[in-house]
Amino acid sequence: MKTNRLPILALWASVGITALTGCSKEQEAAAPVGSAASQDVKAEEAFPNQTGTVVAGKLGNEPIVYQKINGENVLEGDIILTASQVNPTGPQTESAGRNTGKWPSAVVYYTIDAALPSQTRVTSAITHWQTYTPVRFVKRTTQSNYVTFRVGSGCSSNIGMIGGRQYINLASGCTTGNTIHEIGHALGLFHEQTRNDRDTYVNILTQNIQSGYENNFVKYSTSGYSGTDFGALDFGSIMMYGSFSFSSNGQPTITKKDGSTFDIQRNGLSTGDRAGIDIMY
Ligand SMILES: [Zn+2]
Repeated sequence: MKTNRLPILALWASVGITALTGCSKEQEAAAPVGSAASQDVKAEEAFPNQTGTVVAGKLGNEPIVYQKINGENVLEGDIILTASQVNPTGPQTESAGRNTGKWPSAVVYYTIDAALPSQTRVTSAITHWQTYTPVRFVKRTTQSNYVTFRVGSGCSSNIGMIGGRQYINLASGCTTGNTIHEIGHALGLFHEQTRNDRDTYVNILTQNIQSGYENNFVKYSTSGYSGTDFGALDFGSIMMYGSFSFSSNGQPTITKKDGSTFDIQRNGLSTGDRAGIDIMY
């Protein structure tokens, strides 16, 4: 067991982006980089409208449930796990993400595939991250570990730095806000609603969740992750689902404890997101 808690909590819990101030109003100051009616904003999916096979596997030595779609291992809707991450007998599985998942010196090397349309989505998202966090993005030259932004069937990313080339996949419908979210995964963040303490803040209405997507709502502790939750759950986090994300019937999948619904936020990093990243990086 690692005794250094920071990489663990930052990579394997959503705590790195949990609001430390608990003041959701302050996210107004997060300089929205794009705006859309919140009800029109969808949570990110790697393969929209495709149903995969639900697989009970392991991430390192820890049990997880993910979907197998088009040969990819999809966790929480838009996180792509590598073959070695879900193969407990393969090489480099032991705490693969924990030890190698952070980008050294908070520098992410990247390329943008020439075939990707609307590349300002990427450059605007990078500018946003660089404006509000210590993370820096540098065009890759010869570095071996880097992210390539490319065309995808949905919006998706690996979790943390996985070693070698990795991808952030962007379909035409993926916005700058979605791209900011996917970069969050590439930096090592999971979704806010998977916090260990989320039951203090929200009700999960499993009966309204699209079949096969239940694992998007599983707490990291249930999935076997360890971590510590700081502050309060941040409803304004760019890594948080909205009340109607992955609903099968138009009814909410997540409500606040009082039963009220809340909007998904994909305009920019919240105050809590930025505070968490400051701790992580
Ligand atoms: Zn996501």
